[in-house]
Amino acid sequence: MPTDQAPEGATSPDAKPRLSFAVPVARGKAPRHLADLDLAARKNALADVGLPAFRADQLSRHYFTHFTREAADMTDLPAAQREQLAGELLPELITEVRALRADGGRTIKHLWELHDGVRVESVLMRYRERTTLCVSSQAGCGMACPFCATGQMGLTRNLSTAEIIEQVRHAALASQRGDLTGGPARLSNVVFMGMGEPMVNYKNVVAALRRMTDPAPEGFGLSARSITVSTVGLVPLIRRLAGEGIPVTLAVSLHAPDDGLRDELIPVNSKWKVDELLDAAHDYFEATGRRVSIEYALIKDMNDHAWRAQLLADELNRRGRGWAHVNPIPLNPTPGSIWTCSEPDVQDRFVDTLRQAGVTTTVRDTRGSDIDGACGQLAAEVLGQERSRTQQ
Ligand code: SF4
Repeated sequence: MPTDQAPEGATSPDAKPRLSFAVPVARGKAPRHLADLDLAARKNALADVGLPAFRADQLSRHYFTHFTREAADMTDLPAAQREQLAGELLPELITEVRALRADGGRTIKHLWELHDGVRVESVLMRYRERTTLCVSSQAGCGMACPFCATGQMGLTRNLSTAEIIEQVRHAALASQRGDLTGGPARLSNVVFMGMGEPMVNYKNVVAALRRMTDPAPEGFGLSARSITVSTVGLVPLIRRLAGEGIPVTLAVSLHAPDDGLRDELIPVNSKWKVDELLDAAHDYFEATGRRVSIEYALIKDMNDHAWRAQLLADELNRRGRGWAHVNPIPLNPTPGSIWTCSEPDVQDRFVDTLRQAGVTTTVRDTRGSDIDGACGQLAAEVLGQERSRTQQ
């Protein structure tokens, strides 16, 4: 098993990022925003500052249906109150630092700066039949997966509900405006596969799921089945999510079917083992009726053996048929890392083994690989450039 480079800021070459659930405190809270609140709380917030509560409905429609926070666009509101209403509940929470286009303009990756200078990324991708946004739920990540750029940064903080929703609003607006090649589109899918482990930020992520799926004027009215929450395997929270009544697709970042290897690849496996994780994933399927995605980054000579594909198939099949779908992902390597993608014939054999065992398997399209598509790479790269500029 090769060792990777030490994490950024490490004081010794053999240092490893550490698994951490603790969210660093003492960062200023993001300003209050309409998307943090349900409709009743929005009405109360307006009434508290002497504004008519019923305006919360109109303000919510501007935000969730027309994707705007600009007072000037809200011509159905009295001119004297527009600025005040927008100022109270629609502060600017995320500002664009950089936007990179790839895949002939069908992919746009954004680096955003939050109110306290923290930076996160989102990626908007247009496919033939859908337009998908990959959102960040945390700045950095405390899960310390050694092959992941974000994992090397450690956790800076959780994003607020509105900071997550603002990524979605910007993407919906960009799609509607026709920023992606191919003309105007409707944002149809959201995946929590950007920076962070969504389950560690459970409360804000679930509130964000409600804002995404609630119909107007409460929320965007997206279908729960077109939203995917990805986790490395926080078992109690997978079980809790199953009971929320929001049947989103669960994606489990498995990457190894055996504890020996998964302990190394996914440090959280030291708390919840493969067996427990697959049991929870299967129970999620039973509770929601949503087929679970099993994500499996293929890493050369590490987890790409045919016997591991067979073991994975056996583990899935012994819990039932048709409840899970495996997505092998050609690894998108961290710059300078020795973790690299599998040879094509090895990848083919891995996929064939799963299919022959009756497991539905689709190799995932690695969009944005020409713009540092792995989560955290753009943030790490811009930070590096800024550091080298300040050192010159
Ligand atoms: S792979 Fe996901 S959970 Fe692991 S460190 Fe990266 S962002 Fe965190």
